[in-house]
Amino acid sequence: MVGFTIGYTGGVYDRAGERRLDEVWIAAEIAAGRCRVLPVWRDRNLVGGFPGAAPRAAFLGNGTADALLAAGETIFLGVAAGIAVFAVDLSERDETEAAFGLGAYAEIRGLSALLPPDEAALLATARGLCHWHRTHRFCGSCGHPTESREAGHSRTCTNPACGRSHYPRLDPAVIMLVESVDDAGRPVCLLGHNARFPEGVFSTLAGFVEIGETLEQAVARELGEEVGIVVDAVTYRASQPWPFPSSIMLGFTAHGRFAPPRPDGVEVVEARWLTIDDLALAADWEEEGAPLRLPRRDSIARFLIESWRAEHAR
Ligand SMILES: [Zn+2]
Repeated sequence: MVGFTIGYTGGVYDRAGERRLDEVWIAAEIAAGRCRVLPVWRDRNLVGGFPGAAPRAAFLGNGTADALLAAGETIFLGVAAGIAVFAVDLSERDETEAAFGLGAYAEIRGLSALLPPDEAALLATARGLCHWHRTHRFCGSCGHPTESREAGHSRTCTNPACGRSHYPRLDPAVIMLVESVDDAGRPVCLLGHNARFPEGVFSTLAGFVEIGETLEQAVARELGEEVGIVVDAVTYRASQPWPFPSSIMLGFTAHGRFAPPRPDGVEVVEARWLTIDDLALAADWEEEGAPLRLPRRDSIARFLIESWRAEHAR
């Protein structure tokens, strides 16, 4: 669907997982001086150009990168265009010093539509892995410090009596468009206004998957809790990496019984059944002040809405 690509899904680089334990290969790549390093500073990525022009990932130059790589604690992200790419967390440094005059540290959540798709995916991955390392410096089993292993893809407890390995965790979240047919026989979809959304924005509903439930059960439970709608026929559609800090969004459509939604008033403050004609009148996210605005064009929420709209277009 042209114009509605899901953000952060353009990761065309090779993750080269088999190289994570290949210390000889990694050392040779570093020694050859052809690696690229993406720095992260407290959940922000270094970008050049922005805000004066379109943002681009800022890779550290050879001299700076080599020193950081030699010092260790870098995370091997993979191979892009034949070149090994690493991430490094510079959160302990002064922000300006850590930018090396190459750009500024920016919150990339929401910038994916402006970045080249492959760079958006790399930056998001770098951010997510650096966040995981920063928040897993101690063993959850025994409290001793942990050390990075597998070129940054695991951490191991330094307590010989424990030695437990820890791996990056993802928090799965379901996001779902509910479709139905109204009393006049028209196809409708249910969108909600979350308490955290800007004024006028209506989107698909979402929530975290709980331990012990299936994705389909999570979809049904969240819709019951948030808007009091009973659904069946839950169908998987697409996913979006969301390492802000550690989620993956799993997109579904579900068929709901047409009834007045009952927003919980806490997460969802308003919910509406909308027809194709209602959606045609809706504005884009950027159009502040419009009474009904749709989510960003690169979000999985928008992808679900536009897919539904396309399926029911007359
Ligand atoms: Zn331990």
